[in-house]
Amino acid sequence: MRNSDFLQTDPKRIQISNLRKSYQSGKLKTEVLKGLNLDIPSASVITLMGASGSGKSTFLNILSGIDTPDSGEVLVNGNYLHLMRETELTKYRREDTGIIFQFFHLLPYLNALENVAVPLYISGIGKKEAKQIAKEALSQVGLSERMSHKPDELSGGEQQRVAIARAVCKNPSLILADEPTGNLDTKNAENVIRLLIDLQNRNGFTLFIVTHDQNLGSLGEFRLKMADGILVD
Ligand code: ADP
Ligand code: MG
Repeated sequence: MRNSDFLQTDPKRIQISNLRKSYQSGKLKTEVLKGLNLDIPSASVITLMGASGSGKSTFLNILSGIDTPDSGEVLVNGNYLHLMRETELTKYRREDTGIIFQFFHLLPYLNALENVAVPLYISGIGKKEAKQIAKEALSQVGLSERMSHKPDELSGGEQQRVAIARAVCKNPSLILADEPTGNLDTKNAENVIRLLIDLQNRNGFTLFIVTHDQNLGSLGEFRLKMADGILVD
């Protein structure tokens, strides 16, 4: 099948060809991604493992539109990211992606409900509707009873579940998680993993997880490994 035929049958797949990225600090240029190639159907669970410093977060940041490639093509869920300007990338980030980080990145002075609802207001949804969507998302992650708690009144696992609610409530086609269990104990890590997989099954988004955890890594339908700046299966 030619590329265009693939895209017609699955326009939301991830297709990457010869993606390169390097960082310059002073005179020193570090090549981080040295030509990545990937073709993965939509609604997949993808895990990415690899040594610290191998470029996993750099790759995730390019998929999320936070960072841009030096060269190569990056097509994600119908978006040609390598061709987009900053304003288009901002719209892509807001509407098509949800991100989950190792250290949760919740706003400390907002409660759980506000942490989920505020990004929705910012993206133009009315206050009342945003609150309603946020409430539903928090109930989906089992936090109906914790909505008025601030992050420092929640456990690590609960904070991560707020972050997951915030990521999924916009109904994005891609959820990216960078070491989502890296700061959790075993039991909370298992709960978070189960929740992510369960939400993926119900909502059908593509789930891309960077992890050090072998157990989590083995759950991917597509298990990728980063080594020496390239992807190996
Ligand atoms: P990983 O997530 O696999 O641990 P990263 O993608 O964070 O790896 O980093 C890969 C390499 O790129 C590292 O050597 C890191 O120091 C370098 N790097 C990452 N981001 C930047 C940046 N903004 N400026 C300069 N170097 C960076
Ligand atoms: Mg990283």
